[in-house]
Amino acid sequence: MKVLVLGGAGYIGSHMCKYLSEQGHEVVVFDNLSTGHAEAVKWGVLVKGDILNQADLDMLFEIHGRFDLIMHFCAKSLVGESVQQPAIYYKNNVVGTLNVLDTMVKTGHDKLVFSSTAAVFGMPQVNLIDEKQPRRPINPYGQTKKMVEDILQDYHQAYGLKSVCLRYFNACGADPECEVGECHQPETHLIPNVLKSVNNASSAKLKVFGNDYPTADGTCVRDYIHINDLATAHIKAGLYLDNHDGAYAFNLGNGNGFSVLQVINAAMAVVGEDIAFDIEARRQGDPAILVADASLAIKQLGWQPKYTDITDIIATAWQWHQNEKF
Ligand code: UDP
Repeated sequence: MKVLVLGGAGYIGSHMCKYLSEQGHEVVVFDNLSTGHAEAVKWGVLVKGDILNQADLDMLFEIHGRFDLIMHFCAKSLVGESVQQPAIYYKNNVVGTLNVLDTMVKTGHDKLVFSSTAAVFGMPQVNLIDEKQPRRPINPYGQTKKMVEDILQDYHQAYGLKSVCLRYFNACGADPECEVGECHQPETHLIPNVLKSVNNASSAKLKVFGNDYPTADGTCVRDYIHINDLATAHIKAGLYLDNHDGAYAFNLGNGNGFSVLQVINAAMAVVGEDIAFDIEARRQGDPAILVADASLAIKQLGWQPKYTDITDIIATAWQWHQNEKF
C-alpha cells in the first residue's frame, strides 16, 4: 500500500512509519514539525506542511498523487494546555481535520485511520471501558476528538468516507531497536518523567500527582499500551476498511491497569536503582482509573497486544532514554 501518514514525525506517527515500511508499504509523511522531529522521519519522504493551510494539503496530493490509505496523527494533545488555550485545540484538531477530510473527499480518497483517545470518555463510571460507554469529555482536548469522531459519522453517511477511530489509552514505550522514541517538549507523561528523574541531578524530582484516589494504593491506575502494539492496530484498522463500509471506533489498551506507584516500582526494577519522588496534589482532570476493554478491537480487527508486562514496556522506554537521539 501507499500510505499517507499525517503527523508522521511525531511519537506515534514515527513508530507507525517504521512499522509500515517494515511491512513493505510505501510511506509519505506530512508534518508541520511543531512537535515532531525531522530526524524521526526515516521511512519515506517528509513533506513539510500544515493541515491548517489548504494550499499545503493541495500541494501534497498534487505532488504525491493517490494513496491507498491515510492515517491522521496530527493533533495538539496536552490536556492542561487545551484548558488554557482551547482556541488552538479547536483550530488544529477540528478545523485542521476538516481540511483533511474535505481534501480527501475532493480528491476521491475514502479510507482514514484516525487517532482518537480515551479522553473522549471523560470521567467514566466503570473501571473497564468498552465502546458502549458514554463519551463525555471533560476538557477541550477530549472534546475536539469527540467532535471529529462525530464528524466522521456524518462524512461516511454523506460522502462515503470510511474511517476507523482508534482510541488510545496510555501510549508508551519505544522502538526496541531505538531508532525512534518518545521526545516531547515539555514532557508531561508518567513513564518518560519517571525515567528522566533517574540519575539526573539537573532534573526536578519526580512528582506523583495524588495518593488519595479510590484505588488499591491511592494513586491513579492507567492502561499502558506499547507504541508498537498501536502500530499493528493501525494497519489492521486500515485493512478492515477494505471490506467494511462504515465509520468505526475501537478502544485500544492492553486491558491491564497499573497504578503510578506500580509504574515507579517497575521502573526501579528496570533501571536497577531507587527512584525518589514527592507526593503532590492531584492533577486537575485526572480520573482515578482508566483501563480499556479492547475486546472489540481484538475480535473485529484480529489484533492482539504483545506487550502486556509493564516492566517490558518500560525497558524499551529506558533503552531509548539512555540513547536519546533527538
Ligand atoms: N503522573 C504523575 N507524575 C507525572 C506524570 C503523570 O503522577 O510526572 C500521573 C498522572 O497524574 C496520571 C498518570 O500518572 O495519574 C498518567 O499520566 P500521563 O500524563 O502519563 O497520562 P494520562 O493518563 O494523563 O493521559
